[in-house]
Amino acid sequence: MKSRSTLGRDFLLALIRVMVNQAKWDIVIIGGGLAGLTTALRLATNNLKICLIEKNEYPHHKVCGEYVSNEILPYLNSLKIDPFSVGAKQISKFQLTDLKGIPINVKLPLGGFGLSRYAFDNLLFKSLQNKIEFLFDTVEQVSFQNNHFDITTKGKANLKASFVIGAFGKRSNIDSFLNRKFMSQRSPWLAVKAHYDYDFPEDTVALHTFKGGYCGLSKTETNAVNACYLATFKSFKEHKNIETFQNTALSKNPYLKSFFEEANPIFEKPLSISQISFQRKKPVENHIFMIGDSAGLIHPLCGNGMAMAIRSSQIFSDLFLDAFKNNDFDRNKLELKYTIHWQQEFGDRLKTGRFIQRIIMNPSTAKIGFTAASLVPALVPKIIEKTHGSPSK
Ligand SMILES: Cc1cc2nc3c(=O)[nH]c(=O)nc-3n(C[C@H](O)[C@H](O)[C@H](O)COP(=O)(O)OP(=O)(O)OC[C@H]3O[C@@H](n4cnc5c(N)ncnc54)[C@H](O)[C@@H]3O)c2cc1C
Repeated sequence: MKSRSTLGRDFLLALIRVMVNQAKWDIVIIGGGLAGLTTALRLATNNLKICLIEKNEYPHHKVCGEYVSNEILPYLNSLKIDPFSVGAKQISKFQLTDLKGIPINVKLPLGGFGLSRYAFDNLLFKSLQNKIEFLFDTVEQVSFQNNHFDITTKGKANLKASFVIGAFGKRSNIDSFLNRKFMSQRSPWLAVKAHYDYDFPEDTVALHTFKGGYCGLSKTETNAVNACYLATFKSFKEHKNIETFQNTALSKNPYLKSFFEEANPIFEKPLSISQISFQRKKPVENHIFMIGDSAGLIHPLCGNGMAMAIRSSQIFSDLFLDAFKNNDFDRNKLELKYTIHWQQEFGDRLKTGRFIQRIIMNPSTAKIGFTAASLVPALVPKIIEKTHGSPSK
């Protein structure tokens, strides 16, 4: 038997479903991570009818390193979003260690901030209240015919829209039904994240390498340290579970050994994801404008996937609003423009990301790379700059 409050909530959800079904939306955004939420924020003030469909309610934790590059601070501020209002930590230092734990310490060229996705996504969600419609449901089908989209959800909502934005992250059921090429290629990466109580400098982000992967450490708004690592499936499967993997493979690096011995876990158990793909993707597919990880994911060691997600949303929004103000909605023209701008902004960054990842993951090239970087530490910020953009306007 359902409780009164569950019945009330079900009724409200049914009402929202009827409302969203009857309306014809200018824009439907699929996915309410950073890319989807910032797009909604930017477009909401322009009298556009927007519905954002997200499968999980806020706030929720996500597997992420939670270090955000300052590259997108000016843009966030222009959207009236201040990460420091919810306690984000200013980060200006970077520590990188090799397999043996030999450190290289440098100042970050632009710096960044530490903020959990729990708080960051929720901050954006809250500032969208009463500005757009939210539907908490999972999109199962999107089809394009006669110049408009039909979107169907698991909860049986059917929406009609003129434009659809794909902001559904690195891997989604939508990629499967769109038959996107990267879905047929095997991906050997998995990632694990949890928050810990641990004495760690709040102005630093550390990246500690281990055989088969690397682990990032940085503080979040709650003072908890976020530990998030990416590892190959091959290196993980030699161990029975996450705990043994951490206590053996990761703990060969003395920094990670002290961390996992001394830190007190705050989460009941770590969050994990697998099948993380870094393959190339198309920025527009089936007339859907892909933003954030749906358009391409940079290797996490570059520490700016979130900034790229927000920047791609900015590029799309600028082009869309330009077309909107000039009443020039030539779909093919807009798709071409977005594809060109996306490539110009991110093509080289993604290539550099893949290159650094290959160097670090191969023990012989990593040795040469670490030796060069310890002799000339100034090389590290130079390489970081190559994977970042300049501060957004
Ligand atoms: C291990 C790891 C560590 C990382 N560390 C960092 C870091 O320290 N710094 C950094 O800048 N970047 C980092 N990144 C990258 C960063 O997490 C992503 O680039 C960023 O989250 C992309 O945001 P997004 O909005 O595109 O996707 P997401 O935040 O993944 O949002 C996608 C949303 O779509 C929803 N969704 C999916 N399918 C559907 C559907 N069918 N219907 C409805 N909703 C749907 C999901 O629930 C989700 O909320 C890391 C990535 C990994 C894998």
